[in-house]
Amino acid sequence: MIIGVPKEIKNNENRVALNPAGAKELVKRGHTVYVQHTAGEGSGFTDAMYEEAGATILPTIEGTYAAAEMIIKVKEPIEPEYKLIKEDQLIFTYFHFASHEPLTKAMVDSKAVCLAYETVEKTDRSLPLLVPMSEVAGRMAVQKGANYLEKPLGGKGILLGGVPGTLPAKVIILGGGVVGTQAAWMAAGLGADVTIMDVSLPRMRYLSDVMPKNVKTMMSNEFNIRKMIKEADLIVGAVLIPGAKAPHLITRDMLKEMQPGTVLVDVAVDQGGCIETCKPTTHQDPTYVIDDVVHYCVANMPGAVPYTSTIALTNATLPYAIQLADKGWKKAALENPELVPGLNVIKGDIVYKAVADAFDMPY
Ligand code: NAD
Repeated sequence: MIIGVPKEIKNNENRVALNPAGAKELVKRGHTVYVQHTAGEGSGFTDAMYEEAGATILPTIEGTYAAAEMIIKVKEPIEPEYKLIKEDQLIFTYFHFASHEPLTKAMVDSKAVCLAYETVEKTDRSLPLLVPMSEVAGRMAVQKGANYLEKPLGGKGILLGGVPGTLPAKVIILGGGVVGTQAAWMAAGLGADVTIMDVSLPRMRYLSDVMPKNVKTMMSNEFNIRKMIKEADLIVGAVLIPGAKAPHLITRDMLKEMQPGTVLVDVAVDQGGCIETCKPTTHQDPTYVIDDVVHYCVANMPGAVPYTSTIALTNATLPYAIQLADKGWKKAALENPELVPGLNVIKGDIVYKAVADAFDMPY
């Protein structure tokens, strides 16, 4: 198959959908890989690295789309890309259709086959192509939190792990899923006193088994949250209720009960946030302060670490990309049921119910 890897053109997107290692795997199987000039640059991969892996560099985005049977991307296509997508072309990327009507209409009109990373689903209902970005965001949440706890950045001026003879910082993590677990590992590794609050007892039993001694678990409810936030130094929001807005576990009035310089990192901001006072921020201007409490609410945290994010993403997407390239999308989906829910639009038809329902379009 002929595979095209365009350069991402969405503002501040430095990731690329295929790293040189992935290109080499596809070329080894007899596929042709076209990579747009400088597509990997933002993630630290030069054109020469791709050429060494056996890919061919094409000078323009137009040429890359025109040459390919399958396009592998990171972000959903944006308006200037709509016209480049061809009938029958397979587009494998994050789409998040249900929140974007013009994109859905454009992809229906294009008559392309749209396979969305975010809805590829394993038989245990986990979403394997969302996990890597949650892992990145979870780890980064603590890195950012530690940073903003420094006094010149508005924080309390406490070191997460303290030093001998001082108490470590208290870190509260709301939600012990992928983001929360990764955040807990990082905070624990730095020596903080960590509490993960979740509503799932089986999840907390598991976490108690695998986490080090400085990580405790506690049932997430209003009573316990109110008690814990009074002494917290860093609070990480990592709650997810699939298909719904995040519940506001920390309400506006609770900020008054926190100590000045407490830092909130609401990773769940992309689902509305689990902290009422959270509103999306950007890497350029990531924080704001309300009631002396620092809020960090960047909606695309993995975008700041494109080297790690690109490799983590391609580690997860490549096995599927190989199946699609080897067999074509129809045979690959017939043989691997995980790919079936990934199919959102096929040659002018919406085949994913939630997307059709979102815009009252035929399914
Ligand atoms: P996940 O499904 O793995 O974990 C969510 C956890 O929340 C589960 O353990 C669940 O039991 C728990 N939960 C549900 N209700 C709760 C409650 N009332 N109190 C406490 N815990 C509760 O999800 P995830 O992959 O960890 O993602 C968490 C959030 O982070 C999502 O909103 C996701 O979209 C977001 N995210 C944001 C970024 C970013 O850049 N900001 C990046 C990746 C993921």
